[in-house]
Amino acid sequence: MRFETKAVHSGRRVDESTGAVTTPIYLSTTFERAGDGSYPNEFIYGREANPNRLALEECLTSLEDGYDCVTFSSGMAAITSVIEALPTDKARRIIMPNDMYFGIRSLLSETDIGSKLDVVIVDMTDLHEVENAITSAPTGLVWIETPSNPLLKVTDIAVITKLAQAAGAYTAVDNTWATPVLQRPLTQGADFSIHSVTKYIGGHSDLMIGAVIARSESPMLTNLRAWQQTKGAVPSPFDCWLALRGVQSLAPRMMVHCSNAEAIAKFLNEHPNVDAVHYPGLSDHPGHSIAARQMSSSGGMLSFQVKGGEREAMAVAAKLRLFTRATSLGGTHSLIEHRSSVEGNNTMTPDNLLRVSIGIENVDDLKEDLSQALK
Ligand code: PLP
Repeated sequence: MRFETKAVHSGRRVDESTGAVTTPIYLSTTFERAGDGSYPNEFIYGREANPNRLALEECLTSLEDGYDCVTFSSGMAAITSVIEALPTDKARRIIMPNDMYFGIRSLLSETDIGSKLDVVIVDMTDLHEVENAITSAPTGLVWIETPSNPLLKVTDIAVITKLAQAAGAYTAVDNTWATPVLQRPLTQGADFSIHSVTKYIGGHSDLMIGAVIARSESPMLTNLRAWQQTKGAVPSPFDCWLALRGVQSLAPRMMVHCSNAEAIAKFLNEHPNVDAVHYPGLSDHPGHSIAARQMSSSGGMLSFQVKGGEREAMAVAAKLRLFTRATSLGGTHSLIEHRSSVEGNNTMTPDNLLRVSIGIENVDDLKEDLSQALK
């Protein structure tokens, strides 16, 4: 099956007991045991397994061309589990990018998870720096986020993965912004592809789930399965049902997100009140050629720097009528965010930067709104 067909059919079954075409939501937390002590339907308890969760995991495995998927109650729960699941025979040293989702930076700097690790921050676009970091001491995990949040830096997945593999390290790619429609890290050699399903896969800003899709069996995957059950940060059956509904339209939604974002990026790039636009689809973006090779389109996220500082950027966001001023991304509706004030004291984001999640509205309406706000 091709991607669009898998998105609609994977994990879906007609309900045998009723003929219902849409999978029912199994809210039951516990499942009956037979008189002989067996579990005839293999389900025992909701934290261990649930039919809606299994259906979503089957679908995401198929969309990422993976081997297996383990879901969690949020993207951060998935990311925390990957970092914690590093097997004991691996070095406690991880290489992280200098531009990445701020929540991960906080996880590593503000919780005891980070204090138990040697965290090395590098510019993932500088291959010599990455190679030096990976080879200068035993390394357990290399973390890639591409395109990155919020500066849309592009990392070469295949090249970095080869360097990591040669050094015996796992590679995990946060594929949230690209989605499996545009980029499949496991086919480029990465060990894990990670999603905040909360974003594009859910697609409507109404659920929270995280997913880790693995390329093959490994001690890390064994730990992740165990972590899901014993630490218990599992997604709810209703959220899994919503995600499986949302994912069916992921491919056509992404086509509109991408074409709208490309048009808006070009429009902003020519605007006299805009200093810089960060979007890999622009030919002058430093990661343009790598993105063109490893992504089928450039995505629905962009950021831009308004002429001036924080005050001018905030004023633009305040004047917008169609773009909602809110954090997060990946929904059908456009969102705008003054990123550095959301990230707080340790932010490295320029104070004139606005991050935009371009929705699937009519692109001319979006352009007109930006045009009146930038006047
Ligand atoms: N990864 C990326 C790239 C994100 O942008 C986010 C959230 O914005 C996350 C992970 C965290 O996901 P969640 O909010 O579902 O915990």
